[in-house]
Amino acid sequence: MDDSSVMPASGDGSNAERGRASELPASVELLVVGAGPVGLFTALRAARQGLSVGVIDEGLPREERGHATLLHARTLRLLAELDLADGLKRCGQLLSSVSLSLDGKQTSTLALTEPVLAVPQRELEFALHDALSREGVALHYLHRATTIRNGGDRAEVSVMRVPAWPPDASSDQPPDVDCSLVAAEFVVGADGHASQVRAALGIEAVRLEGIETYSIFELEDDRPPRDVLDLVFHGELGSSRIPLANGRVRLSFQILSGLSEPADGARLAELVSSRMAFAAPPPRAIDFGTVTHFDRRLARVFGRGRVWLAGDAAHVTSPLGAQSLNLGLAEAAGLVQRIADRAQGRARLDNLALFAQQQQREWQKLLGVNVLFSLLPGAPGWVPNLARRLVPALPLSGAELDRALRSLGIALY
Ligand SMILES: Cc1cc2nc3c(=O)[nH]c(=O)nc-3n(C[C@H](O)[C@H](O)[C@H](O)COP(=O)(O)OP(=O)(O)OC[C@H]3O[C@@H](n4cnc5c(N)ncnc54)[C@H](O)[C@@H]3O)c2cc1C
Repeated sequence: MDDSSVMPASGDGSNAERGRASELPASVELLVVGAGPVGLFTALRAARQGLSVGVIDEGLPREERGHATLLHARTLRLLAELDLADGLKRCGQLLSSVSLSLDGKQTSTLALTEPVLAVPQRELEFALHDALSREGVALHYLHRATTIRNGGDRAEVSVMRVPAWPPDASSDQPPDVDCSLVAAEFVVGADGHASQVRAALGIEAVRLEGIETYSIFELEDDRPPRDVLDLVFHGELGSSRIPLANGRVRLSFQILSGLSEPADGARLAELVSSRMAFAAPPPRAIDFGTVTHFDRRLARVFGRGRVWLAGDAAHVTSPLGAQSLNLGLAEAAGLVQRIADRAQGRARLDNLALFAQQQQREWQKLLGVNVLFSLLPGAPGWVPNLARRLVPALPLSGAELDRALRSLGIALY
């Protein structure tokens, strides 16, 4: 085994055979491009459905501590189907309501019908990684998808071995460029916001009303934990406070300034006192602080033929409602179900296109594209100004989002 393939410890059946071989297979039923959370989840669902799966990622397994995320109730149900939800709940913090504040005043509390889970994204990735190992699915790191031929009965993906970094200093030879071709009945491009799969299909990622920038911090908080997600709007700028497990908290602030802004204690104190005075954190060392752009985009279509997109490859939005990750996982589950149905002769290829159109529509609603916002009788006075900002910031989607919005006096058509 070379160090770019993560080999499963054990396993049976075709994926286990592929795992033991550890070479990138020449043909599979499903090739997943990208081993971020959405790609790992896609591969696991597919393996559990009995599909032969290949997974490639141009990078190496992530080991950094990473940032926290929110797993929606719908996501927890999907993870429960894979027996992963209980383990994740043990390392996360369940939140049962959302408190909305506007310009320093608490305006509403939204009780969630099922709780959401605040958990480090890394824990989700580890859980998926371990489960894939148990299924015998090898993950081929340092393998980059370069070109794709999207044929009538299969796709062919050119895969290039990426030289390990840092390069071997003892060698004066340039690293070999090693390419192979993988034939796949289907490809899922879960290769993130700069998706090369999307580019290979010639699909435009349409930019939506500009880039949003956030200052994000994680730190200790020794006050008694509350199971409440605080969403705060200061004018149009959204912020959130998410209690995490083990006495920690994550604070995110949308800012107008650029990436060069520091994410240090002085800046945190300033942002908290101007936006979240109610949540003033005790003076503690910040253990994660960053300023990040979210270049909000939506792919014009979510794939075609044999090649489909999921996760950040298809859409990027602000981090507040964790929508891109959560809807990405729901897309992956829906795609895999339809791919398995098709592979087992139970459904037509058109089902995938139909599903992708439905997902596109869900995203348009979420991002306020081609959507009519209607105010229901009795809607509070703050709703008209904030409805568009609020919708993607809630940790809900699908029918659960519609229900919650109606309880706040908003209907989307
Ligand atoms: C600082 C920060 C804070 C964030 N906070 C939040 C948050 O609070 N809530 C939230 O929901 N989201 C947040 N996000 C975004 C969240 O991380 C993404 O939505 C999530 O990681 C998307 O998962 P993904 O699997 O679609 O893509 P990614 O995690 O981007 O994974 C894509 C993978 O594809 C691989 N790849 C790319 N191109 C190729 C290729 N050609 N061939 C092979 N492999 C390829 C990459 O190496 C990568 O591993 C944050 C992001 C950052 C950076």
